[in-house]
Formats: sequence, structure tokens, C-alpha cells
Amino acid sequence: MEEELIKLQTNVSSLIIACDDSDELENIRENFLGKNGDLTEAIKRIGKLPADERPEIGKLANEIKTTVEEMLQDKKKNLSGNATNTIKVDAIKKLDITLPGAKPPLGHLHLITQALEEITSIFEHIGFARVRHPEVEWDWYAFTSLNFPENHPARDDWETFFIKEGIHPKKGQMILTPHTSSGQVREMEKGVLPIKMLNIAKCYRRQSDVSHSPMFHQFEGLVVGENISITHLKGVLDYFVKSYFGPNRISRIRPYHFQFTEPSFEIDVSCGICNGKGCKLCKAGWLELGGAGMVHPNVLKAGNIDTKKYSGFAFGWGVERVLMMKEGLSLEDLRILYSNDMRFLEQF
Ligand SMILES: [Zn+2]
Repeated sequence: MEEELIKLQTNVSSLIIACDDSDELENIRENFLGKNGDLTEAIKRIGKLPADERPEIGKLANEIKTTVEEMLQDKKKNLSGNATNTIKVDAIKKLDITLPGAKPPLGHLHLITQALEEITSIFEHIGFARVRHPEVEWDWYAFTSLNFPENHPARDDWETFFIKEGIHPKKGQMILTPHTSSGQVREMEKGVLPIKMLNIAKCYRRQSDVSHSPMFHQFEGLVVGENISITHLKGVLDYFVKSYFGPNRISRIRPYHFQFTEPSFEIDVSCGICNGKGCKLCKAGWLELGGAGMVHPNVLKAGNIDTKKYSGFAFGWGVERVLMMKEGLSLEDLRILYSNDMRFLEQF
């Protein structure tokens, strides 16, 4: 019986090694381990052997069974691996290298960056130079030099981010600048006149709700020179409104109050939906754009500029606001601009 089993194992092993087809491998398995297979039949006969021979032969039969099962398993894996290789080779043979390739996904500039570039280009056409001034700023440039009194609410902890560690002996507390106007006196200090600057920067205020983000962008125009008047301001505003919003739009100025301009104005742009007639989206045909005005003499003095010889105007508006006005976007939550949600960003 022992010899018979060993002979069976030798036979089936050589059959498995030579096999190169998975159907044939399945036949080998059936003939050896199946219901009426050679090994199954042999095991049935073990029960008829003398009792003292049974354990030894039974153990051998089991070992052979396990070995053959492992061999079958390994061979099966080999054969299916070869099948995959064959498919790959076929695919390569059929590869048409003249077909266009699969393009990697391409992103685009963030919609705020797109707006910054467009706004910059519009002002550069009429001679404004884009400049950059610090976003981490001293109180002097953000408030005091701009004619803000000591007790102005903008200097409240609830409005502005103060940095406790930083105190300048003359320029005061270190802050995150709440507006691009902090670049005005810095620009004047350069001592180069006339000034035609466009300062675009991130600004920071202690606010976070559906219509406010703690970080946002402003663009600030400052013109200082001889004989600069409100007429120049009005001309620049009209030019921007037509260039950015469209040739049919017009601007208007309304009296207002700011610390650092005198006189001060709120700027409105005519509504693009109703063309100034009045609709649900606007206030009697107008939309609020932001603030502007003639530079306050105290601010010019803080920048060491001779107020008898020079005058100027300034305007500072939120980039997010003008962008939303242009696109007709009404965002449920403005903070989506900065939450990196691709479903939103891919639309622009
Ligand atoms: Zn309207």
C-alpha cells in the first residue's frame, strides 16, 4: 500500500509539472482527489488494512494529499499569471502610439487670484504701479498716521488682531493690518512724487460669519501730486467701473465719513441687472462698491508731504466684494472662497 501511494504521488506530480493548461489541471485534480480519484479510492481501502498498519498508512496518505493540493494551487497561480502576461503582451502589440494620451487633470488660478490679476492690469493701463506693503504692521501706519483717534472703535480688541509681543517705541503695537490703507503713509515715506500706487494685500479682522472671512483682500489706490482734485478721482472710478464691470455701467459718489479722507465718499456702481432702474438686487438702481475720498491733510503731513503744494485721493475696496458683484455671485457663505472645496472652485 505504501509503495502504491508513493507511485501515485510520483505520477501525479509529474503530470502537474508538465501541465500548461488550467482545464487540464482541473482534470488532474479530479482524477487524483475527486470523488472517484486514485487517491480517494486508495484512502477508502485503508480501512480494510490490519489495524496496526492503518495509522502509518493513513498519515502518509494525508501528507501526500496535502502536498498534491499545494502543488495544484501553485500551478493554478502560475497559469493565471501567465494568462495576465499574455493579455499585457497583446495590449502592447495593439498599442497605437499615434492616439492622443490621457491628459492629467489641469487646475487653474483661484478666482480671487484671477480677480487680482484683472484689477492690477486695469490700473496699470492708466499708470498705477502695483506695490506691496507689510501685512504685519505697526499701529502707526494702520491707525495713528491715518488720523484715527486713540479711542476709535477699529482699535478695539474685537475689531483688530493685536500681537502682544510686538511693541515699537515710536510706532506702537504690532497688529495684523485691517486695511490696505496702512500702505498710504509707507508709500509717502519713500519720498518719490507724484505717487500712483495700487496696494493689494490680505487684510485681517476679527470677524467670521456667512458674509465675513477673518482674512480677505483689499486693493487700495493712492494718487498724490500737484493739483489733484475730485475730478481725477471721479475719472478713475468711472474708468475702473467700465473696465471691470462693463462699458454700460457708471459710478456715482455719495458723501460719507472716513478718518483719513476729507471729503469722503461712498462709491456706488449702477446695477447691471436693471441698468439703474431699480430691482430686488440693488438699492434704487445702485450697488455699493466701497469708500474713497481726498487724502486728509493730516495723513499727508504724517507722510512728510507739503500740503500746500500737493493733494491726493485714495480708494480702498474689497476684492471679494467687487468680484461677487461682477459675477452676480450671491454666496450663502463667503468663507467657501477659502475652504478649498473643489466642487465650488472648479466652476470658475
Ligand atoms: Zn438693479
